[in-house]
Amino acid sequence: MKPLIITLDGPSGSGKSTASVRLAKYFKIPCLDTGAMYRTVAYKATEANIPLDDSPALSKLASKLTFKFGFDGDSRWVEVLDNGSNMRMGKEIRTPEVSLAASKIAKLPKVREVLVRKQQEIGRKDGAVVEGRDAGTVIFPHATIKFFVTASAEERAKRRHKELVDSYGIKAQDYGEVLKEILLRDRQDEEREASPSKPADDALIIDTSNLDFEKVVQFLKEKVESRLQTRAAR
Ligand code: C5P
Repeated sequence: MKPLIITLDGPSGSGKSTASVRLAKYFKIPCLDTGAMYRTVAYKATEANIPLDDSPALSKLASKLTFKFGFDGDSRWVEVLDNGSNMRMGKEIRTPEVSLAASKIAKLPKVREVLVRKQQEIGRKDGAVVEGRDAGTVIFPHATIKFFVTASAEERAKRRHKELVDSYGIKAQDYGEVLKEILLRDRQDEEREASPSKPADDALIIDTSNLDFEKVVQFLKEKVESRLQTRAAR
């Protein structure tokens, strides 16, 4: 039996992160936060003074990192092994500056190639809920089931603002600034040439703007269960 791969793509603040942890726990598979990989490379590049358009240096940096994912309760974590030292990445990779830097390096095809290979290796082992922008289109085009989760930019900015303050204690931005950052990042991610953010042709699209979150999770679970039943009956 092929491992269970659930892809959850969509823009920032759509609710896909929380939904992916809930699905991963329910189906007892790892939760692969691919955005954290781009964020970590962007963060480490900034620390090492590597320009965010230096594709060879950024790809080299990405190649030497080993990622491990897990969750405690309802929150995800990512650990990165770099030059023999292991580090759990925290709020330092969730800042607005790192968000924009991640979106910049995510335009580079070589960096994507390196990270996509690592994502495929992790997912192929035990299956995974794969959360990102290109999970259903590029990383796992033959996933068991694909979702594209979205919401209006205003609603996403509200959620992202709350997440920054409540989960990461990042208070520097007001709602207007968060909305601006979200719109800029949306544009960069959707308009880039390499693996633009878009739903796979066979993805189920869910607009969560006016939906109760528990209902969204329930809906996703039911869709996966029913896909698994169809697969077992074949
Ligand atoms: O999902 P998250 O907001 O953490 O992702 C940060 C940035 O990383 C995105 O804005 C996007 O540019 C990039 N990304 C990507 N492909 C993925 C995941 C994230 O290009 N699969």
